[in-house]
Amino acid sequence: MTATATLLKHHTTAEAYGIVDPMLPQTAVIQRIKHETLDTATYSLAFTDPAVAERYRFLPGQFNMLYLPGIGEVAISISSDPAQPKVLLHTIREAGNVTGAIARLKKGDLIGLRGPYGSAWPVDKAENNDLIFVSGGIGLAPLRSAIYHVINHRERYKQVTILAGARSPADLLYPDEYDVWRKHGIDVDVTVDRADDSWRGHVGVVPMMFYRLRPDPRQTVVFSCGPEIMMRFVIYEALARRIPKRCIYLSLERNMKCAVGFCGHCQYGPFFLCKEGPVLSFNRVEPFFSVEEF
Ligand SMILES: Cc1cc2nc3c(=O)[nH]c(=O)nc-3n(C[C@H](O)[C@H](O)[C@H](O)COP(=O)(O)OP(=O)(O)OC[C@H]3O[C@@H](n4cnc5c(N)ncnc54)[C@H](O)[C@@H]3O)c2cc1C
Repeated sequence: MTATATLLKHHTTAEAYGIVDPMLPQTAVIQRIKHETLDTATYSLAFTDPAVAERYRFLPGQFNMLYLPGIGEVAISISSDPAQPKVLLHTIREAGNVTGAIARLKKGDLIGLRGPYGSAWPVDKAENNDLIFVSGGIGLAPLRSAIYHVINHRERYKQVTILAGARSPADLLYPDEYDVWRKHGIDVDVTVDRADDSWRGHVGVVPMMFYRLRPDPRQTVVFSCGPEIMMRFVIYEALARRIPKRCIYLSLERNMKCAVGFCGHCQYGPFFLCKEGPVLSFNRVEPFFSVEEF
């Protein structure tokens, strides 16, 4: 039986969708696949049950568990606009077993989805402040939902800057959206570790881009997601500009299984990252963040 058929067998009745069970995946259909880079694509998913679609809401920075029967489940951030929860975008990089199987799916295939889980970017708390988004690689995916939120409520934020980095120009996520974001009064600065002949932009690691900014530490909030080594340098640069630790928010990643704080796979010091995280302020995680490979 194919993965799709197994899903249909177990998840076709409305009663099943009605069960309020955080461990029970609902069925979603892949409406569109947009290839972003060589190993990364964005999947537009919609619940097959209109009642589930009607109920579903998420906050920017939260994630879903995507499930393929017989293969497994993975935590994937929601990278779409929280004001439009009926179509969910997930940008997925092929990393191993489950993400590799997802990469072989086609438009019209079904996938299990449960969520949303986890903490969110504190977009309300950040109102009336300057906002700096800093991403590395696939880290732009969980930030994009907060970027959409800021665009929807642009008047609530002062200066907004996006610093986005990738290994090479071909690895940049969502390049066709940067000019749209700029039209909403957002500064978008992009850098790559290695240029190619076509590249006319910045070359270098993303924390280096802080040198272009003069943030006011009394009114600046930083949201960052990317490899931990990158976030270490982002923290260093932000602290050097006297941005308080409590105003630096990170999205942290650990292998997750249950996503509801039972199994302990994602324990990070006193936190279960699936529940208290993935978004946490630096002042809360500092003792653990400074430990290599914690
Ligand atoms: C909250 C959260 C949000 C995420 N959002 C996204 C997203 O938007 N897009 C995306 O592409 N990926 C995202 N990830 C990462 C994604 O969950 C992993 O890449 C995925 O679990 C790998 O599963 P797999 O079965 O394909 O690989 P596996 O076969 O399980 O593993 C491949 C390799 O990756 C390692 N690995 C697996 N999971 C993780 C992990 N979470 N952290 C570090 N190493 C890991 C394994 O140890 C192994 O070395 C997110 C993870 C978390 C925790």
